[in-house]
Amino acid sequence: MENHTETATLSPQDVARAAQLLRAGHLVAMPTETVYGLAGDARKADSVAAIFAAKGRPAHNPLIVHVDSLEAAERFAALPNPARKLAQTFWPGALTLVAPLRNGHGLAQAVTAGLPTVALRVPAHPLARALLAEFGGPVAAPSANQSGRISPTNAAHVMAGLAGRIAAVLDGGPCPVGVESTILGFEGDEAVLLREGGISAEQIAAVLGDWPRAHTGTKITAPGQMLSHYAPAAQVRLDVTAPRDDEIWIGFGPDCAGAALSLSPSGDLDEAARTLFATLHQADAMRRPIAIAPVPERGVGAAINDRLRRAAAPRD
Ligand code: AMP
Ligand code: MG
Repeated sequence: MENHTETATLSPQDVARAAQLLRAGHLVAMPTETVYGLAGDARKADSVAAIFAAKGRPAHNPLIVHVDSLEAAERFAALPNPARKLAQTFWPGALTLVAPLRNGHGLAQAVTAGLPTVALRVPAHPLARALLAEFGGPVAAPSANQSGRISPTNAAHVMAGLAGRIAAVLDGGPCPVGVESTILGFEGDEAVLLREGGISAEQIAAVLGDWPRAHTGTKITAPGQMLSHYAPAAQVRLDVTAPRDDEIWIGFGPDCAGAALSLSPSGDLDEAARTLFATLHQADAMRRPIAIAPVPERGVGAAINDRLRRAAAPRD
């Protein structure tokens, strides 16, 4: 297991050092436009095993492989036509595509949890792109947090959860999108929405001419599909317009002027996505129950509400 007495905080000038650490088999947290990712060489069994160990992530949850281009993605997987069309439209960006592995793909088996398919994404963040270019290979990168806890959207969040367990964090400031990527699988040519995220179902429908089908199976195929996930230590209540005295109220929009914290005082959904996890981290540090105002379900609001429902779900 990757274990370090100290985790280095690297500045954007240190991309070459970060790539060197990856080549040596170490783990480096990197900023992406969605959340910080815990990067390791996707071809090395030891690096991939170290990712699962550092996060405490169950081995049956496959990882997303990050590459620097659509051409690189097609070396690992056979993309169905609608997937290629979506990649051409949204990559680099907050969309992950799940497609059948190609023979001779060279990825560590644990990356896909032994499945015959792989999840692929080309991230847009300039530092993630610089690191992928410098490293020159595929990088497995789940969110850089302890499994099940609130996702990290700045370097301090990463350190709070993983200091001493990883080699370094590349500090790129706060993540500009703030929620994880949308994950789409395919059954034949039909797109199936496995996880809501930074690219909305509306945006996908505009490209495909049809809405992605909601995932209905009971089998968990994406970690984000686990009921309790993104969970603060405190109890969380949703759709609250009148909080109790003991609760930290997280508002959305101008109707929540009295709230201690707000996802977006003006009611802007992109801002709410960007501030969501940092606000949950902040509220959680206050060690009081959390009450959250209603957030509209349109656009990226669907991903925000998905994360909020999981943050509020009963734990065992
Ligand atoms: P994370 O990197 O923690 O945001 O999560 C990665 C997501 O991609 C998880 O929800 C995985 O289950 C999902 N995923 C990765 N590979 C596959 C796959 N082959 N089939 C379905 N989902 C996948
Ligand atoms: Mg995660």
